[in-house]
Amino acid sequence: MTHNIDLNDTLFERAKRVIPGGVNSPVRAFRAVGGTPRFVKRAQGAYFWDANDKRYTDYIGSWGPMILGHGHPAVVQAVQNAVLEGFSFGAPTEREIELAEEILSVMPSMDMVRLVSSGTEAGMSALRLARGATGRSKFIKFEGCYHGHADALLVKAGSGLATFGNPTSAGVPPEVVQHTLVLEYNNVQQLEEAFALHGKELACVMIEPIAGNMNFVRASVPFMKRCRELCTQYGSLLVFDEVMTGFRVALGSAQSLYAQAIPGFIPDLTVLGKVIGGGMPLAAFGGPRAIMEQMAPLGPVYQAGTLSGNPVATACGLATLREIRKPGFYEGLAQKTRQLVTGLKAAADEHGVAFSADSEGGMFGFFLMSQLPQNYATVMKTDNAKFNKLFHGLLDRGVYIAPALYEAGFVSASHTEADIANTVAVAREVFAQIKD
Ligand SMILES: *Cc1c(COP(=O)(O)O)cnc(C)c1O
Repeated sequence: MTHNIDLNDTLFERAKRVIPGGVNSPVRAFRAVGGTPRFVKRAQGAYFWDANDKRYTDYIGSWGPMILGHGHPAVVQAVQNAVLEGFSFGAPTEREIELAEEILSVMPSMDMVRLVSSGTEAGMSALRLARGATGRSKFIKFEGCYHGHADALLVKAGSGLATFGNPTSAGVPPEVVQHTLVLEYNNVQQLEEAFALHGKELACVMIEPIAGNMNFVRASVPFMKRCRELCTQYGSLLVFDEVMTGFRVALGSAQSLYAQAIPGFIPDLTVLGKVIGGGMPLAAFGGPRAIMEQMAPLGPVYQAGTLSGNPVATACGLATLREIRKPGFYEGLAQKTRQLVTGLKAAADEHGVAFSADSEGGMFGFFLMSQLPQNYATVMKTDNAKFNKLFHGLLDRGVYIAPALYEAGFVSASHTEADIANTVAVAREVFAQIKD
């Protein structure tokens, strides 16, 4: 559909007058790729429609939560029912227990879970709990992993292993990140050196097991094994940030995949978000009883939330989890996601475009380079201009992928094989234009 006036432009101009950058979360502004963000009017299944009523096949799915696709009837029904019973009580409800039980029933690493409203809140609280439970302040995170925007987590590496990080945002005092040690992902030697220097002072190692905030980079099995061993040896907690991978890559989340490769493997604490809320503001963190009982009101680690365990959000999350537990769900999702990445790879090969791709469950990533990168520095070597051409080529043809080369993509259960085949055909056209 063509318009003389692009209504996305009109809305963006209006938005920029009243909202910083016109958006409520920076990546939505298309700053990395240029152009005007699409303002979404409505969505159904695998598609959404923008302000011009143009349809897009959606491979972002609200950055992960929409694993069933948009507007799944059972989820819509559950939310409608919940709304009629009340939006928020600030008092406990049975649905919170049900959601906690549902999550715990597939996560053997967790005996108890606390529900919160965002991944940022969950990650920040898990870090506080790790520090409170160990009585230690320092911790390790990895370059390219995102754990929400709490002060202590907005850090980049300092000049060496002996120095701690530097803030990546204005407004974060250097003192606040002086306990954050930032290491290279998948670098076993650095990890060992850091533990040798600081091991007895480390509260935790916080990690995205499949790092979706640098597109799609798996922690190698030897690296993860060493993370676990060193945490155990030094009494530090291994904190899995599964806000993105949780219930997305497998029913048992990424930790179930590492448990297959490393006998007896479990993390100490797990952070969840995105899928468990099914698109509503809901996140969680959990772990063994002895650690979780350090939380207020039982223990000394304080954490609270007016809207935590919100009755509408828990209804949405619960209905979503009940759908994805059905037999064959992940097999079907993984198969379609693989169809997408193998199709894209073949299309890129046809036109001699350097390309590599990977997927797990309903999450995927691809890179305009011939080998899958193992860390952030390599991911950032991507040819930005080429990625932007690919992005806009797809967008013009109605395929919506993340507007930044360091973000993962998502397939939902609503995507059909025909949707995937169509996306691959569209990508083939675009590859023909961007070949060197
Ligand atoms: C999205 C994300 C977060 C932050 O969650 P919000 O709900 O956006 O605050 C934290 N960790 C990871 C791994 C994420 O992908």
